[in-house]
Amino acid sequence: MDFGLPATKRSPGLSAPADSDRSIHCPMLSTLIRFATLRLRLGLTRPLRRRAIAKMASLGRAPMSALFYHRVADTHPNGWTIGCKAFVRHVDYCRKNFDLVSLSEIQTRCTTARSYRPAVSFTFDDGYAENCDFAIPLLLKHKIPCTYFVSLQHILTGQAFDHDLKAGQPLRINTVREVREMADAGIEIGLHSRTHIDFDQVTCRKTLKREIIDAKSQLADLIGKPIRYFAFPFGLPNQLTPQAISMVHESHMLGFCSAYGAYNLVGQDPFHIRRIHGDCDFERLDNWLSFDKRKLLNQPTVEYALSEKMAERTLPFPIVQSKKTATSTAANQSASGPI
Ligand SMILES: [Zn+2]
Repeated sequence: MDFGLPATKRSPGLSAPADSDRSIHCPMLSTLIRFATLRLRLGLTRPLRRRAIAKMASLGRAPMSALFYHRVADTHPNGWTIGCKAFVRHVDYCRKNFDLVSLSEIQTRCTTARSYRPAVSFTFDDGYAENCDFAIPLLLKHKIPCTYFVSLQHILTGQAFDHDLKAGQPLRINTVREVREMADAGIEIGLHSRTHIDFDQVTCRKTLKREIIDAKSQLADLIGKPIRYFAFPFGLPNQLTPQAISMVHESHMLGFCSAYGAYNLVGQDPFHIRRIHGDCDFERLDNWLSFDKRKLLNQPTVEYALSEKMAERTLPFPIVQSKKTATSTAANQSASGPI
């Protein structure tokens, strides 16, 4: 795999798939109306948003966002694929407007109140082979930090994801060699469980251990690098069970990522890194990254309790214990496809 300059292999006519599953009778019309509404709302509220961000930044509390993508490619468009040209637009927008940082830098800023400029971190879930053709080389070219979460069994066997099989598109998975080469090139590899399991359905400790602790060790051995972060498959509050989160902590990883759409703010528990859906249309991305305080009103909190004594030994930052769980109102961001 060549991690030099990205190849220019864009096919005309394809663009990032919008949330087609939400479109009802006329997908095109529905999408246009949604774009127009978002644009209008953003245009009207942007001055206020900018003032709020400037004030937060002056206090060292600028918001931080972690984006999650799945697949960057111009073939087989679906709800979890973004075209190369659209991805370039995302990257250029982020380079211009944000500090581009690693997950560990987000954690540091959460705890030190030294967030003087809004920040974005790039992540990928699942491990689709085409990402190595364009997206990863592009990020490396611009020296943009990136965390790439893979499902261990899928990279070991090449087995397509169930959601792709159901869609009749058995899309190609990264090989172990590709993952190792990404790690060697400077991409941080994270764990996305062993089998892309839905933790909402798992209570057995043995299964949790196999999916998290054992998979983490095996992945680390495969790539020759430590695995520091975990991303929950599907990533909605239902999957973020206290037992699974404790297992992530027990595995000595530094944090876990959700995927229901939320910001990372100074003072929040840095063990939980909240992410925003990246492989969506640009208007939606712009709307999220142009910090909207109103979104904070509907965000769920995730309940879990870590051993503070253990955290002191294993984490480079203090934990902030979460309290009550709001109901799973994560639909405000909800993924447009399997995550
Ligand atoms: Zn996934």
